[in-house]
Amino acid sequence: MEEEKRINSLTALVAVERALYSFDRLYSYVIPHELIGIVEKGKRVLAPFGRGAKKITGLVMDIKQTEFEAGSLKTISEVLDSEVYLNTEMLSLVHWLKENTFCTYYDAVKCILPPVLRNPENAEKRLTGKTERIVKLSNDDLPNDLDLTPKQKSVISVLENNSASIKELCYICSVTPAVITNLIKKGILEEYRQPVAQTSDELIPERDVSDIELSDVQKQAFDGLHKLMNSPDPKCALLRGITGSGKTSVFIKLIGEALDKGKNAIVLVPEISLTPQTIAIFKGYFGDNAAVIHSGLSMTQRTDEYKRIRNGSARIVVGTRSAIFAPIDNIGIIVIDEEGEHTYKSERSPRYHARDIAKQRCFKHNSLLLLSSATPSMDSYRKSQIGKYSLFELTERYSGNALPDVHIIDMKIEAAMGNHSNFSEALAAEIRHNLQIGEQSLILLNRRGYYTYVCCIVCGEVSMCPNCMVPLTCHISGGTSAAGGMRTQASVCHYCGLIRSYLHSCPKCMSRFIKQSGTGTQRIEDELQELFPEARILRMDADTTMTKGAYERGFSAYGNREYDIMVGTQMIAKGLDFSNVTLVGVLLIDKSLYAGDYLGYERTFSLITQVVGRSGRGEKKGRAFLQTYTPEHYVLKLAARQDYRGFYEEEAAIRETMLFPPFCDLCVVETMSVSEKSAENAAHTFIDILAEQLKKEKTRLPIRVLGPVKSGVGNINSKFRYRIIVKCKNTAAFRKVMSDSLTAALSDKSDKGFGFCGVSVWFE
Ligand code: ADP
Ligand code: ZN
Ligand code: ZN
Repeated sequence: MEEEKRINSLTALVAVERALYSFDRLYSYVIPHELIGIVEKGKRVLAPFGRGAKKITGLVMDIKQTEFEAGSLKTISEVLDSEVYLNTEMLSLVHWLKENTFCTYYDAVKCILPPVLRNPENAEKRLTGKTERIVKLSNDDLPNDLDLTPKQKSVISVLENNSASIKELCYICSVTPAVITNLIKKGILEEYRQPVAQTSDELIPERDVSDIELSDVQKQAFDGLHKLMNSPDPKCALLRGITGSGKTSVFIKLIGEALDKGKNAIVLVPEISLTPQTIAIFKGYFGDNAAVIHSGLSMTQRTDEYKRIRNGSARIVVGTRSAIFAPIDNIGIIVIDEEGEHTYKSERSPRYHARDIAKQRCFKHNSLLLLSSATPSMDSYRKSQIGKYSLFELTERYSGNALPDVHIIDMKIEAAMGNHSNFSEALAAEIRHNLQIGEQSLILLNRRGYYTYVCCIVCGEVSMCPNCMVPLTCHISGGTSAAGGMRTQASVCHYCGLIRSYLHSCPKCMSRFIKQSGTGTQRIEDELQELFPEARILRMDADTTMTKGAYERGFSAYGNREYDIMVGTQMIAKGLDFSNVTLVGVLLIDKSLYAGDYLGYERTFSLITQVVGRSGRGEKKGRAFLQTYTPEHYVLKLAARQDYRGFYEEEAAIRETMLFPPFCDLCVVETMSVSEKSAENAAHTFIDILAEQLKKEKTRLPIRVLGPVKSGVGNINSKFRYRIIVKCKNTAAFRKVMSDSLTAALSDKSDKGFGFCGVSVWFE
């Protein structure tokens, strides 16, 4: 018999790309002699994996001396990075993400790596040359399970949080332009043209932080926060300030103080379209000290900002969700502006919430986490009530003005009086008045398109997206009716991007009586133009702001009073600060109130409070009109009074009784398959597996399982989905049970179980 030979050598623990969740662990590799000292924690390597010994990319998570049997471990082939991209702090975030969001190690690694490095084959290289055709993801939160080739997948992973020119993409992903053109055809990517010369370097007036003079109320909040920031263990604070109270001024001052102490800062904003002004303000006060990261940047610009952060020449990072992973050290403060916004939660794996990552980072750096909002999430406000967060409140506007007067308009009465337009008499009269005195108005309708559905009046057939089974929305191109000219119609799916030419007859009964109904922003624009032919109207929604710089151009033109009325979706509701806006109209608010999940009221309250808050921010007093069919609804009444406390109390009482967050945690399990039956079976199987895993636990974990139910909007992208919702407490023990269940489910290849199904798990 052969003698077993033991070897003692330096090994690397590697997170490998493409490992399935059920096989995902750190794999040990021998570090060959010539690579000792070159293989380092946080660098990417190439190593053989699996039976064919194909080489794959991985990230070194740890290095240690190990004893093992000769021949039992494979050897690292190559080191890909000349520098370390993920330091110890980032590596611990990888572990955190894996445990808390049920993703693989490498999925976590990818969301932290700089974008250019997400694709294995490339080192960071400066791209030169003039670029023209830019693409971006048509939907920021694509489903995880689209059927795509590896090349297509690599293109998409590079485009997460970025736009890029086709040329850049072909280079970075080593693909031909055809791969990208195909993704555009599928509606997964959107293309637009960008002027060759880089824009957006418009002049921003320089300002100095010491010039900001805080009001007494602001000063009080500032002093408290400042003291907290300089304490040894500042933890988390919530700054709740009514709209126009000047929260921004308070945290700019705080950041100034942090910088003076030699510390750095991160400021998160919810979505670039919501906050072009915030970004400009930061550039104005902090100049080149501020690096800005968002999806509107080209790959090259983004890479440049990344470098400036890494080498310390930028000390404040302002950006959207993923900026929380910025490679910045010595953090003094992290600010999350409009902390209740849903854009802080990633909708694709890893499904992290930026607030949770911020907490990890603040804990590591002993820095202050400052959450700021006029309408904090139920969760954060509750934490401030039970003493987990420090609470600071700004209860008056900086201008000293009162909040706008809000009127609730009953559209049933309008209809009874014979007014079938989308504008009540009162709102129309106010718009006319504003036009006469040269003040600006803002109209919110949270639905883009022209008509929101198309149906046959003979058989009732509604025109649906064949992929997603949701009604198609009718869009019209070719200018406003006022401009005249040819207009063409098309039906568009807002979920998958499918575009169909207009139907002249019913596909089911062949009748030619097709009726279009429902109202989108495009139709509102037309109606307004008819009512007020002389008005200059700007429409802002996903359709009009596709091209680079369109948000900024639109908002700044409106700010310069080049338009009288701005019509738009939720992108116009938040964060904007224009002193000449004195009238806000909200149309069809009912839709959002009855959205169908437990967050419907919270979102509606926040949306109304925010949009109403756009009015009367300057010297002049503002007013707002909410049009609804349910004027007696208490959420509308509280929103009209801007009574956040009142809303919080009501909503908390309901959530506590019904057991919803923040009084429990929700863990969602979703199965998906091309076969509806499989998706449903798999969901039932998962419940059995979960029950088995729970039995193994020594201590009892209190949970409640709801479902399975067919989820949300039919079968998005030709897949059927079933959801189980587990009301639980998010503890280490529960996460372990969930992770074991998920692994067991994914290993179950019987055709009754997960043979034909995908499954994902996340916390809401
Ligand atoms: P919020 O974000 O709380 O809604 P902002 O920070 O946008 O409010 O402030 C509202 C307006 O008041 C802005 O135009 C801002 O420039 C102004 N403002 C707030 N605080 C000050 C201050 N201390 N000095 C001068 N202007 C201020
Ligand atoms: Zn029909
Ligand atoms: Zn669709």
